[in-house]
Amino acid sequence: MSKKLDLTANAKINLTLDVLAKRKDGYHEVEMIMQSIDLADRLTFTKVKEGIEIEVNHPQVPTDQNNLIYQAAQLLFSELDLDGGVKVKVDKQIPVAAGLAGGSTNAAATLVAINQLWNLDLSRAELMLRGAKLGADIPFCLEGGTQLATGIGTELERLSSASELYLVIVNPPLEVSTGMIYQNLKLNQVISHPQTAKVIAGLRIGETDLVIDNLTNVLETVTLNIYPEVANLKKKMEQLTDKALMAGSGPTVLGFVVGQDRAEQVKVELEEELNADYKIMVSKTVKQAIEFN
Ligand code: ATP
Repeated sequence: MSKKLDLTANAKINLTLDVLAKRKDGYHEVEMIMQSIDLADRLTFTKVKEGIEIEVNHPQVPTDQNNLIYQAAQLLFSELDLDGGVKVKVDKQIPVAAGLAGGSTNAAATLVAINQLWNLDLSRAELMLRGAKLGADIPFCLEGGTQLATGIGTELERLSSASELYLVIVNPPLEVSTGMIYQNLKLNQVISHPQTAKVIAGLRIGETDLVIDNLTNVLETVTLNIYPEVANLKKKMEQLTDKALMAGSGPTVLGFVVGQDRAEQVKVELEEELNADYKIMVSKTVKQAIEFN
């Protein structure tokens, strides 16, 4: 029986992000098209005698029970009364608190790894149910590809995959709290909601322009007002790329372009203009969230 498993956990972006209503329980009803990209963390899971041990090469990521990896492992260990423990080594490449679901994708990988290493035979749907208890983005991070997410973001419907889209990702040296941005969202002040149906149609018929032209994120109305640095970055990205869009609740901004060469060129131009605290990466859309190495 295998004792070790190496997984790639891909980040997530929103092609559209719409908030439809605020619920009484504090959650928001959303409608969003979520997409896996090839910016990824590498996680190595090893069966050990006892405990949950996390090692990560990033100072802002906790290694105790505050880590979503810990919570995902704990959930399966206690619910299923599993023997032994797990050691998880994380090579973190996804910027932290950036709106790219870095924590959620690590949690999803943990559910997949423990299911495999302990031969639990849980179905994808069973893992998704457990993942949703830890975070609304985790079911998507198990399914991956291109999905329409509704409800609080946990109800998923697979969509035709985007034909490979290239993007430049710029993560400013700022941490933005997702909760704070949602608290400051005033739905009656949102002027333009995404045309989600048009993006779905564009994906179905393979019309990239229809997809790109309609990428919209309602949370920009909040984050760009609170953080002028993010608004300025978005303006700069609008000049250099075909479409600029904030990722999730920010502060990361995505710039979509045609082809890898153009993406690399924009990256170089941004490196010349922005100070070294800004992380700049090139990525592309992919069809899976978790990959076995
Ligand atoms: P969300 O949009 O869901 O808020 P995010 O992608 O913006 O997520 P994450 O990278 O998941 O942000 O990090 C948010 C916080 O979660 C971090 O500040 C960190 O303290 C905590 N965290 C817990 N587990 C992890 C993990 N495995 N990787 C990264 N951050 C984690």
